[in-house]
Amino acid sequence: MPKRIVYPGSFDPITRGHEDLVRRAAALFDEVIVAIAESPAKRPFFSLEERVDMARQALADIPGVQVVGFGGLLMKFLAEHHTTVVLRGLRAVSDFEYELQLAGMNRKLNPEVETLFLTPSEQYMFVSASLVREIARLGGDVSGFLHPLINSRLNAKMA
Ligand code: ADP
Repeated sequence: MPKRIVYPGSFDPITRGHEDLVRRAAALFDEVIVAIAESPAKRPFFSLEERVDMARQALADIPGVQVVGFGGLLMKFLAEHHTTVVLRGLRAVSDFEYELQLAGMNRKLNPEVETLFLTPSEQYMFVSASLVREIARLGGDVSGFLHPLINSRLNAKMA
């Protein structure tokens, strides 16, 4: 069986921080599945189709990576993709509480599920998709935080 890890999130849009984590995971696992959650409760800025398409563009050069959209329970998605390993990112202490709670709940739902945490390179430690959207909305330059194709798509959608 190939070693496979699932990286779930909203990726609204995918940032250099997300990309950094996928690269690190791809070096450790045979396959990385980036699972883009529909997340209707978060009222995403980009549609699910747009987020999937952008992630595919940003991650195209990394071997062993697949991008899939999903709705519903992550536990179901893991079972369908025959893995029990989940990747999440930790940037600052502020991420820790929520991530610990999420990992704990997922383990309650399925005790076999393991959540692995990776940290990004220092330069992406403060990058978040929501801040990037906010800065872009106010006319700021976010090109340092996004793949050039994603930066163009964000600017086009904001315009
Ligand atoms: P969610 O809505 O599930 O939090 P996100 O797309 O915001 O979705 O984040 C998905 C995961 O990626 C989370 O674990 C988050 O902490 C992590 N992440 C987001 N940005 C970064 C970054 N710059 N560096 C490392 N991890 C990150």
